[in-house]
Amino acid sequence: MPAVDLDFPFADPPAPGRAIEIRPGLRWARFALPFRLDHVNVWLLEDADGWTVIDSGIYDERTRAQWEELIAGDLAKHPIRRVVATHFHPDHVGCAGWLVERFRAAFYMPRSEWLFARMLTLEQGEEAIATWSDWYRRHGVAADVVGKMVGRGGYYSRSVSKIPTRYRRLINGDTHELSGRAWRVATFGGHAPEQATFDCAADGLFISADQLLPQISPNVSVTPAEPDGDPLAEFLASLDAMEQIGDDRLVLPMHGLPFRGLTTRVGQLREHHVSRLARVLELASKPATIVELCAGLFRADLDLQQMSFAIGEALAHANHLVRQGKLRRVTDDDGVDRYIKN
Ligand SMILES: [Zn+2]
Repeated sequence: MPAVDLDFPFADPPAPGRAIEIRPGLRWARFALPFRLDHVNVWLLEDADGWTVIDSGIYDERTRAQWEELIAGDLAKHPIRRVVATHFHPDHVGCAGWLVERFRAAFYMPRSEWLFARMLTLEQGEEAIATWSDWYRRHGVAADVVGKMVGRGGYYSRSVSKIPTRYRRLINGDTHELSGRAWRVATFGGHAPEQATFDCAADGLFISADQLLPQISPNVSVTPAEPDGDPLAEFLASLDAMEQIGDDRLVLPMHGLPFRGLTTRVGQLREHHVSRLARVLELASKPATIVELCAGLFRADLDLQQMSFAIGEALAHANHLVRQGKLRRVTDDDGVDRYIKN
């Protein structure tokens, strides 16, 4: 999706291991990711007693090395006092437990996100492999590809440090005083169950996490734990809510560049999903599996991780249409689901 009409006042992202100041007491660091989406942003807030870290990168050697460089360099003035994880995805909560333990820092997360993160670290071995194998088969993935997509299981727990066993809950509507500013927490569903964002009206700053990204459409996925879920309804509702925040904000996303043009971007994402819903209906004029819908919705050269996201995303659109009565699901004798327009 072209990011037209958005303004990017900070075109040069920080080098790995560096944190650049974009407002007094507010710094931007960036960590590498081993995916096609190759980086995640971290926002650092400075107070007299120390740093608050908002998100922390995936838990791997390269990210830990970049943290070491930051801790010894641009952050050396203070200890890390507070670690925030906006949502349970490993590129956001990955190093949180490691930092919390190292600095005896306080750990903040929305409740559903913390529960999900804790739960997923326990989900491994045969049970998880069976769940995901059944999931991909049900949606039309060829038998020889299912094994490759599922792998050996336990991916989540390998990508995060130990999720702390206690946390401080980030609550929708609460305000936290950080970096000399009042930040209002707003939580949203759709991309994750209860993702936290931070809005500072007085200084025109909005830390949007993954809920609003400038260059990519946040993944909205149905997962095997909640196969009839309608996360797209939650995501679309979050767009309506974020639109009310208004256009005076500098949006600080976790992927891509800081940008201005919040309502423009909300409009683009809404349009993207509306056109995708229409395309799903068109493709389902004859019965189609989710994999067949993916072939009509996404580029052909997706890697296995992207294919997994694509299946979840296509299903999010299909489930939304099923709930609206525009589409129905039929399951054949082999347990494969197909979707057809009503
Ligand atoms: Zn995410």
